[in-house]
Amino acid sequence: MVFPGSALFPANLSGQPIGPTGPSGLLASASDQRRARVTLLAGIDIGGTKTAYALAEDTGGAAAAAITARKRRPTEPSGDPEQDLRAMAEDVRQLLAESNASVGDLAVVGVSVAGPLDLDAGQVLRPPNLPHWDRAPVRDLLQAELGCPVHLDNDANAAALAEWHYGAGQGTEHMVYLTMSTGVGGGLVLGGRLHRGVACSAGEVGHIPIEWDGDLCHCGKRGCLEAYIGGAAWAERLERITPAASRVAELARTSGPARPEHVVQAAREGDAFALSEMERFNDYLARAIVHLAFTLAPECVVLGTIATAAGEALCLAPVREKVRARTWPAVGDNLRIEPSGLGDDLPYLAGLAVAHDTRRQDS
Ligand SMILES: [Zn+2]
Repeated sequence: MVFPGSALFPANLSGQPIGPTGPSGLLASASDQRRARVTLLAGIDIGGTKTAYALAEDTGGAAAAAITARKRRPTEPSGDPEQDLRAMAEDVRQLLAESNASVGDLAVVGVSVAGPLDLDAGQVLRPPNLPHWDRAPVRDLLQAELGCPVHLDNDANAAALAEWHYGAGQGTEHMVYLTMSTGVGGGLVLGGRLHRGVACSAGEVGHIPIEWDGDLCHCGKRGCLEAYIGGAAWAERLERITPAASRVAELARTSGPARPEHVVQAAREGDAFALSEMERFNDYLARAIVHLAFTLAPECVVLGTIATAAGEALCLAPVREKVRARTWPAVGDNLRIEPSGLGDDLPYLAGLAVAHDTRRQDS
């Protein structure tokens, strides 16, 4: 689909273009009266290596938001999660100050973070990338620091909401989001709402057994989709089976070890081994989409990361063909399979989407 790229949200609510310096221009040029009415959403995406912050005008639940300021910095866990969270709150305050705003302008903060969550308690449980953060009081501490409601969700759900509100899933009632990075994550929007399931464990598409008694997954079960198309499992496989004479091996020698990105590049250059690996990837991805299509009948499946990077010819077109061949017309003909529409903006939009979705449900 055509998405307005870097002009992702090209205008503020009054239709005025947003300057490159963010809302400082917007707010400085606005009347005092308007300034008094402006409230902001803040998004925080806590990644394993980087944390992204973004501000947007609060549209009160309307379909569009405007990123007005952003910044990204390394995630540097100190060993004390409360200290880390206070530092993150300070980053938000600084971003607000750079935008001529303050915590008093914040309507809601949305947080996207990896790892199982206890949403009732507003806590993160055993996040894989932040070992000291078990039971970290993300919601309560940030609420106390920033003086406004804070909502959190896991990174896959937050990315699904971002695609649904701002990306390739816009305008759909039923959407599935799948991302294949280190593992395989998923998020389900059903009937216009994020579907969390019991214990917020819906959308764990990566652990659908795609081969009964198949390869061992990092989760301890066998045959999971993640064990076949997750980035970590695929890299382990490449380490074992990449022929020394292949283009993948050549690329890995200069920027190794062999990774899925090398497969994509080598496949683009026509390397036979890489093309066979892409065929295998597409086949497993299509199997998962067929399961989801028959179960949920979504209008759209949005694919992130490696599928988006591989693009139409290497991944999307063959996956569409495989899915259509294995589904009934009522299911397959009404299903769009699309690449992510957000590109590098995803980290900024993930937290904002959590905030935005909360406002939408409140309005
Ligand atoms: Zn698994």
